[in-house]
Amino acid sequence: MNLILFGPPGAGKGTQAKRLVEQRAMVQLSTGDMLRAAKASGSELGRRVARIMDRGELVSDEIVIALIEARLPEAEAAGGAIFDGFPRTPAQAEALDLMLKGRGRQIDRVIRLRVDEAALLDRITRRFQAEGRADDNPDSFKVRLQAYADQTAPLIPYYQRQGKLREVDGMGSIEAVAAAIDAALRD
Ligand code: AMP
Repeated sequence: MNLILFGPPGAGKGTQAKRLVEQRAMVQLSTGDMLRAAKASGSELGRRVARIMDRGELVSDEIVIALIEARLPEAEAAGGAIFDGFPRTPAQAEALDLMLKGRGRQIDRVIRLRVDEAALLDRITRRFQAEGRADDNPDSFKVRLQAYADQTAPLIPYYQRQGKLREVDGMGSIEAVAAAIDAALRD
């Protein structure tokens, strides 16, 4: 099964992806984690994306599509992928569909985590205090929310048209959200 966890920054996609990986034969493909690893390693790619990420803007489609493409064989071997933070633009969504189609696979479900903005700010402020992620500072976070609204939210009708979108209330406890995701995956 290939699953997309969809929602704004701070909605809990990473937390839920990690839980799903523990329970199912799937791998988490988080472009944010991949880019942070590149940044931390000081690689050429990391240097190219560091400032864009710190500002809260999206890195180019070309970069993230290549990162995902490189990991598809591994995900396939494991039994499926949980896409976390990808796709984030219509071009990325179309590229993902094509890449999977070329391998005889497809996206099976898109789970949208719905959260309200005040709660997001609260979560991210706490994460900033705990982890010190540069792009969690309030200015960058506002840019990230705006990028979501402008570039990522248009994917909602894209997946709705494909009949793959399921909505889950992301405001509950981690366990409650997890149970709602499990139910959405069964239907
Ligand atoms: P995330 O951890 O998913 O919130 O990603 C952190 C940052 O990495 C984002 O604010 C972007 O700068 C970059 N990034 C992650 N995934 C993508 C993507 N699919 N497209 C463009 N930029 C991305």
